[in-house]
Amino acid sequence: MSACHPERSRRIPWNYLKAFATGFLDFARNDRFFVRRSFFVLLLFPPALQASENISVLGNKPRWDVLEHYQQTITRDEFAHLINDVYGTHGFAPDLVKIQGDTARILMNRDAQKFFTLRFASGTKEQKRVPRLWKSAESLPPAERDKPLSGLQIALDPGHLGGSWAKMEERWFQVGDSKPVQEGDLTLRVARLLATRLRDLGAKVSFVRRIDEPITGKRPDDFRELARKILIKNGVPQPRTDVLDTTDPEKEHTIRWQSEILFYRYSEIRRRAALVNYKLHPDLVLCLHFNAEGWGNPNSPVLTDTNHLHLLVNGSYLAEELEFDDERFEMIRRLLSGAYDEELPLADTIAAAMARETRLPPYAYPTTNSTTKVGSSGYVYARNLLATRLYRCPVVYCEPYVMNSKDVFARIQAGDYEGTRNINGVERKSIFREYADSVADGLVDYYSKARGL
Ligand SMILES: [Zn+2]
Repeated sequence: MSACHPERSRRIPWNYLKAFATGFLDFARNDRFFVRRSFFVLLLFPPALQASENISVLGNKPRWDVLEHYQQTITRDEFAHLINDVYGTHGFAPDLVKIQGDTARILMNRDAQKFFTLRFASGTKEQKRVPRLWKSAESLPPAERDKPLSGLQIALDPGHLGGSWAKMEERWFQVGDSKPVQEGDLTLRVARLLATRLRDLGAKVSFVRRIDEPITGKRPDDFRELARKILIKNGVPQPRTDVLDTTDPEKEHTIRWQSEILFYRYSEIRRRAALVNYKLHPDLVLCLHFNAEGWGNPNSPVLTDTNHLHLLVNGSYLAEELEFDDERFEMIRRLLSGAYDEELPLADTIAAAMARETRLPPYAYPTTNSTTKVGSSGYVYARNLLATRLYRCPVVYCEPYVMNSKDVFARIQAGDYEGTRNINGVERKSIFREYADSVADGLVDYYSKARGL
């Protein structure tokens, strides 16, 4: 349901697949989750002639040789800071990443005892250039004052699918006969408004998703066999095909439910990452979401007084996530790319503008088990989400508005409009424009300052 977290608090610990995709494991730290998880990996990659690789769900084989291009691009101090304060904040097995002298030893394959050796730059003056396709604010050419985003390529990633998929992806609720609330439709609407504003400011804008359809060519049926194997390996010897009805508490143990999540989350987000990394090559991706609190029955949802805002950047990997060869590789490559140096101040600046314009308080995660607060605005967290990890450039992931708060629900029902209207006694812009304008204003603040405008 929610943007990408609160939903999980209403789910039972067994819901390991969702946790895989999102890194949300707060509820499951002490149960059998991790055992199941390692079974699952063995299943996908049975011991072959060579040492088996430990790859996450639908993950790609790591290309460790790529890291050769990052030799001597980072100092030991900077590497240690990023590992300790951003990426590895929950700790990890000591053999995964080991700093020794002027190198770091990174585990490639435990069975084969193969390691990658990263050599540090001896000082900041000796650092070699980081190979990357995206442009930092610092490296952009001079700009006109009214075009602070000129030369910048921004990809907009409206979260989820919306349309006829909204119920399947559990991003749908309806109050009585009112218009159903579908997160994937709301985010696309914001993206379209935002694109216009960003282009006026000089940016080149692309869409990771343009319509209310998936970009993956796969469908749930393509994952039935994988879903069945996952269920069997995780203690459901004879998984049922389908649910009895939508409120069936056993629905997550069905082939249908598992194959659907493999489709709309794993396959879809990995396809989006391929589009971003191999075709769009943006300087920045903005992931647009709306948040939510648990709403219970989607046909009779709970409306709440709670409303809040936060933004996410990549980091805060769990020890269990770093056991996966592909996730560890992706973490190291991201760390070395320097994306954090750009996305953190950017997220802080966008957060400040959004807080100012939405008047929302910062969201506080109920635990610190999967997130780490970073930056100075009080609104930004590091977290290992699929999109923030896989898109190879700075990524700022926006989570404003609790969709099932009374205030936000009323504003969504009011739709988009120009100017202001009285909503629950307060004159407000349309929620879609407020969202888009506040993100755009944050980008203007950041790039104007960085470019000395
Ligand atoms: Zn979302």
